Amino acid sequence: MSVTDYQLYINGEFCDASDGSRFDSINPSTGEVWATAPAATEQDVDRAVKAAHHAMFEGEWSKMTATQRGHLLFKLADAVAEVAQDLGSIETTDSGKLAAETRGQSAYVADYYRYYGGMADKIQGDVLPIDKPDMHVYTRREPIGVVAAIVPWNAEMFLTATKVGPALAAGCAVVIKASEIAPAPILEFAKVVDQVGFPPGVINLITGFGEPCGRILTSHKQVSKVAFTGGADTARHVIANTANNFAPVSLELGGKSPLVIFDDADLEGAVNGAVAGNFGASGQSCVAGSRVIVQAGVYDRFIEMVTERAQAIRLGDPLDDDTQMGPLATQVQYDRCISVVAASASEGATIHTGGKRPDGFETGWYFEPTVIACPDQTITSTRVELFGPVMSVLKFENEEDAIGLANDTEFGLGAGIFTNNLARAHRVSEKIHSGIVWVNTYRAISPIAPFGGFGNSGYGREAGVDAIHEFTRTKTVWINTSPEPMANPFVMR
Ligand code: NAD
Repeated sequence: MSVTDYQLYINGEFCDASDGSRFDSINPSTGEVWATAPAATEQDVDRAVKAAHHAMFEGEWSKMTATQRGHLLFKLADAVAEVAQDLGSIETTDSGKLAAETRGQSAYVADYYRYYGGMADKIQGDVLPIDKPDMHVYTRREPIGVVAAIVPWNAEMFLTATKVGPALAAGCAVVIKASEIAPAPILEFAKVVDQVGFPPGVINLITGFGEPCGRILTSHKQVSKVAFTGGADTARHVIANTANNFAPVSLELGGKSPLVIFDDADLEGAVNGAVAGNFGASGQSCVAGSRVIVQAGVYDRFIEMVTERAQAIRLGDPLDDDTQMGPLATQVQYDRCISVVAASASEGATIHTGGKRPDGFETGWYFEPTVIACPDQTITSTRVELFGPVMSVLKFENEEDAIGLANDTEFGLGAGIFTNNLARAHRVSEKIHSGIVWVNTYRAISPIAPFGGFGNSGYGREAGVDAIHEFTRTKTVWINTSPEPMANPFVMR
């Protein structure tokens, strides 16, 4: 199989790393190298940030109206939509994520650019009813500055759009660093960006490792905002990096999201929610509903149904349309699933199905859809983010217990509630500590709906109008409208 060699995209041009260094990208389905990407050096990162800075403060981008910026985002949306299938296939080859999902997501990504294209000329300040005579006071919402965007490997096209869309609508320029685990989609996206006709330096796409590339980018003096998606440990480094530039940070981190199923729920729908929340994307989703908390009256039936469904999932080549679950993205993920499932079993959990490499899959990082019944939340699988197809199931007696279990976590990203009791749905939604609650559905997203978490799941919001606040800063302008000159402050009247 031939290997594709990608290039960085800096200041509107494709280039190699300044020292020519490259790293391999592995196809998780075969375990083989299928592409290489440049490992951006300090010099490359510096050039990308300076290009973005120039575009924002001196170049053509700085002189464009908000409406013109919006039109370019519309063009980007059309260009992405046109090649969505190809972008999806590349993401699948690079990350192992199911093509049905990556292709659909790439097509939907166009809607994020469209949404923010429409928002570009609706970002406005206020005139304040100020408590002083002869003063006209207003606020402007100005672009925050150069944005450093760091994305993980599990949904690159999507997580890039949730940052680039609002950042460009606000008038910022961006430098995006892809994950070293799956660098290809971003560099393929660079080819799309190049055709749209953005002024040079508005969107720069680079690849490299957290150290040095991510560190240098997030601590760069000309960076004014860091939008980060990834794990909590990396986020701590990113926060430390920004001590150098005081750039505000937004963090989209992981989760251990509860999915609460009440006796009164439509059980078929609830099982679908649990399957989507745990086995969709092989469980490699920040909002995986990996703690399934089930009321005693339907618990046994739920375990039976979900075990049957897990065993029926078709594993295979993620590019194949018939496949329902692909491999994990890396061997590290695979090893972690093996060890956490084994530890949980030794702590008293019951494995109903899965927990190992599926028969007939000798290559690639395939892991069986796994259902574990956990007596309580001391079991390791209920506490750590696994990023794999491992569902931990817990039992509860009443609503209060369910809320207690749901909130017994350091995370707070997503939560699901399955019930046919409307009052209960609102009551429990209010009491669960999470940034998103889905009732009788799971994993739904939209450019219109803010997305983000609390606690170890991070802070700041992507999508919706909220995201604009992440990429703008408020300036307050005071204008003295009095016909008299400003009074001498040392002369008392
Ligand atoms: P990761 O934290 O290992 O890496 C994320 C990115 O940070 C990569 O691009 C990496 O190169 C970069 N990085 C590493 N060290 C750095 C440093 N010192 N300075 C700057 N950047 C650095 O995460 P991952 O394994 O790629 O992704 C999985 C994690 O992402 C999971 O925890 C998952 O829940 C989370 N995630 C969250 C969301 C969300 O929206 N909340 C979405 C997807 C994934």
